[in-house]
Amino acid sequence: MANIIDGKLISTQIKDELKEKVANLKKEGKQITLAVIQVGNDPASTVYVGNKKKACEYIGINSLAYELPEDITEESLLKTIEELNNDDKVNGILVQLPLPKHIDEDKVIKTIAPEKDVDGFHPSSVGALLIGQEGFLPCTPAGIIQLIKRSGISIEGKECVVIGRSNIVGKPMGVLLLRENGTVTITHSKTKNLKKVCKRADILVVAIGKPKMIDASYVKDGAVVIDVGIHRNADNKLCGDVDFDSVEKVASYITPVPGGVGPMTIAMLMQNCVNSVR
Ligand code: NDP
Repeated sequence: MANIIDGKLISTQIKDELKEKVANLKKEGKQITLAVIQVGNDPASTVYVGNKKKACEYIGINSLAYELPEDITEESLLKTIEELNNDDKVNGILVQLPLPKHIDEDKVIKTIAPEKDVDGFHPSSVGALLIGQEGFLPCTPAGIIQLIKRSGISIEGKECVVIGRSNIVGKPMGVLLLRENGTVTITHSKTKNLKKVCKRADILVVAIGKPKMIDASYVKDGAVVIDVGIHRNADNKLCGDVDFDSVEKVASYITPVPGGVGPMTIAMLMQNCVNSVR
């Protein structure tokens, strides 16, 4: 039976470390402020935004909420971002995605000043990540690296397979594992013989967006399996991209859903906010 990687516990440890840092910064007269912009009232986005605000409160970060109407024009949204870029009291800007279809997400991301890009999605942040320069790291993959390292698992020299090549998870995940000296393969929907490729992984990161698709037949004995997926099944219960019951029998370590990667994404957002004052 696999060891369970407790993302809730590890994320709380990180948030407690950050809380102390924020208290010390306050003593130096530095207050951190995160502006959170939500357009429309998609229920999932409202939950994510609410969790981010709660995390800010816990750590001692000021959060400013911008709840903008669904039919806001792109121009008006960009103007709000520009104003926040120019506001010295604001350290980080987060625009909750996805945005309504009439708004160009790429344009919005590019408008956020790179020094306030706490989500790590701006092309400057992505470029810095790729060439190993300092910059904001995308929260979900950065959180996964923390989960692995804080569980005492070494990445160096390991065969790492990532399923999925999205800009927010798969691609940056591959780069971060490479940075840790893993030997990395990124797979996607056109990959031939996915099972065979996955079977060679010492560390398998699954971000495929398909409920419970990855079962034990994709996993090498003793592999570390990280499940990024979040889905709600017919009984309204959360599940991941990995078939937990099947995979926990062969893996050495596994992340559960919920309570694995999810809480780490917010902890790393908080970390980026703290780093934004430096
Ligand atoms: P995307 O849908 O953007 O990407 C999915 C990737 O999986 C694509 O690269 C796609 O390949 C690949 N893929 C799809 N089907 C197959 C297949 N049959 N075989 C191999 N590869 C396949 O998803 P995201 O990366 O945004 O998210 C992935 C999952 O993680 C989702 O469940 C999402 O909800 C969750 N998530 C969780 C977060 C958290 O905080 N825990 C944060 C972000 C996401 P191709 O490129 O060829 O289409």
